[in-house]
Amino acid sequence: MMALTHGFASLAVAVVVLPVIGDHVGGPLLLAAFLGGLAPDADLLASHRKTLHYPVGFSAVALLLFAAFSLTGWSALLLLTVAVGAAALHAVSDVLGGSAEREPWNPTMDTGVYNHVLGRWHRPRRYVRYSGAPEDFLVCLAFATVAVSSAVTPAAADVTLFWLVALAGLYTLCRKRLAAISTGLGNLVPTQVRTLLPTVRIEETETDGTTVDIRFGR
Ligand SMILES: [Zn+2]
Repeated sequence: MMALTHGFASLAVAVVVLPVIGDHVGGPLLLAAFLGGLAPDADLLASHRKTLHYPVGFSAVALLLFAAFSLTGWSALLLLTVAVGAAALHAVSDVLGGSAEREPWNPTMDTGVYNHVLGRWHRPRRYVRYSGAPEDFLVCLAFATVAVSSAVTPAAADVTLFWLVALAGLYTLCRKRLAAISTGLGNLVPTQVRTLLPTVRIEETETDGTTVDIRFGR
């Protein structure tokens, strides 16, 4: 699933759950939910769905943080609970998506999300076949609608969320052509300039997902 889908899912849960917990709703908590939901996908350039995806670890830490918040009432602990809880929701729900590979619409691998406790990959359920699939956009749109229609998100935030949904839509339209588009854009750069730019090669490996090779000067 798209990082934005995860961000909106966490935000939707936050706007529904936080008012139930108490009087704690505010910009920082909503931002923590959204960014916490995006964060695990920062491992796209490392070993995707492994390096920063801890379905068990994040869930356990979020529960401990919430217990600590319940005992102390410290708002900083609630902020951490929301951020880690959002990352936990992301890591757990990735198992519903496709495999972590270059062309997940032509699946060859069974790598859904890595479980560091069991030391193995969970099989992808493929309800959402790949990040940027049409069904991924619909899920993203549904969660975004919950967040935007909630009175908890201020009007200024709703405008930003609207543009993020538009960005998700654009990504969905281009998803399968991203490689061709980046090659096309690269060809627009003059040859003299191109020799000064680093070459970046991203390779999928059998076991550990992705390696990145950056070289300067050709
Ligand atoms: Zn992910």
